[in-house]
Amino acid sequence: MFENLSERLSGVFDRLTKQGALSDEDVKTALREVRVALLEADVSLPVARDFVKAVQDKATGQAVTRSITPGQQVVKIVHDELVHVLAGDPEADPGKLKIDNPPAPILMVGLQGSGKTTTTAKLAKRLKEKEGKRVLMASLDVNRPAAMEQLQILGTQIGVDTLPIVKGEDPVQIAKRAKTQASMGGYDVYMLDTAGRLHIDQELIAQAAAVRDVANPRETLLVVDGLTGQDAVNVATEFDDKIGVSGVVLTRMDGDGRGGAALSMRAITGKPIKFVGLGEKMDAIETFEPERIAGRILGMGDIVALVEKAQATIEAEQAEKMMKRFQKGRFNMNDLRMQLEQMLKMGGMEGIMGMMPGMGKLAAQAKDSGFEDKVIKQQIAMIQSMTKVERANPQILQASRKKRIAAGSGMEVADLNKLLKMHRQMSDMMKKMGKGGMLKQAMKGMF
Ligand code: GDP
Repeated sequence: MFENLSERLSGVFDRLTKQGALSDEDVKTALREVRVALLEADVSLPVARDFVKAVQDKATGQAVTRSITPGQQVVKIVHDELVHVLAGDPEADPGKLKIDNPPAPILMVGLQGSGKTTTTAKLAKRLKEKEGKRVLMASLDVNRPAAMEQLQILGTQIGVDTLPIVKGEDPVQIAKRAKTQASMGGYDVYMLDTAGRLHIDQELIAQAAAVRDVANPRETLLVVDGLTGQDAVNVATEFDDKIGVSGVVLTRMDGDGRGGAALSMRAITGKPIKFVGLGEKMDAIETFEPERIAGRILGMGDIVALVEKAQATIEAEQAEKMMKRFQKGRFNMNDLRMQLEQMLKMGGMEGIMGMMPGMGKLAAQAKDSGFEDKVIKQQIAMIQSMTKVERANPQILQASRKKRIAAGSGMEVADLNKLLKMHRQMSDMMKKMGKGGMLKQAMKGMF
């Protein structure tokens, strides 16, 4: 899956990462190519557009670190953005289905030919083998006896029970019988394979909704054919509107399809892709893991790892250096500025001070005095107005220097005095904590 997209993107990035310096124009050209590659992979236009914009914004704001090239940095940004686009709820485990409280009903819906029956059996096998669950499968496709038999045959093949076929029942009756049999037979899960149609129509929706209402499914999984690109996304939107789905299974991702459905699915439907079908065999199903898929699409895992390592090393080095200085009682305005910038990142004064032992009271004061992002930004502006020497030695700040700094940052001398007082308090605190070894503890939480 994603071969074409992957090839296109690696072409773009191969060129980019080989260059030492990148101009804005280089990045723009590369991103234009990324956009075309996404559209050719049948990613929907708004999704492709937002994607490129997000990458562009992040690439411009990013400070370039020494040990990696700007091109490598862009690859990492694109990678992260791919993960973001692909991921549903970051907390959710894609391979985990909600199947507590046995017997848990799973409703399978989708168009005819999407791979619904095959996927039902694949998932049943997976639940049985990976999670040791007892599964019962039932086909509700009363219009197509062949479909019912197909599920039965697959059941025998994978060693999973199917509900005996009784002629003349309607789907709701079959669903009720499945529920009774699942309860009495001590099954953990029962899967309801609903009838498909070639197109979404009133009857199909009404039938699926009626079954949903009696079965009260824990999961409603929509099976869509990944080869159908944008249509797959449209089908998902419609099913979700009409029936409500909890997750999507994209089938035929083993084909040379363009993969766009996978990239547009979450952004457009808001529904997570939970599994991908990768062939006709009963084992050909995988959980959908955004990190891994993004890795496959980009095919640049080495660069992503390199950039992550470089970033982590730089942060660790900075933290270590700062800590050494603090322990010696050195805490100058550059340090304070870094702290303030960190605070902005971490949710303001309250957030950061709350983490430091002994700073609780200051945090409360900060809150009372309306310590918000705006104030923090003003403080950073005042520090920026200081000269290099002043930043390193704030004790030299006398009246005339203070006036100049305040004027330079559009603030009052009184504001600057407050900042200096805060610096002194923090500096004292650092010194004390440095002696007791508490600083190390405190800083662990900060970086
Ligand atoms: P249903 O009508 O939605 O129940 O579709 P079926 O489960 O009967 O599948 C239709 C065809 O697609 C069958 O030949 C399956 O073997 C095939 N199929 C299902 N899933 C996949 C998949 O992930 N990859 C490939 N290559 N074929 C699949």
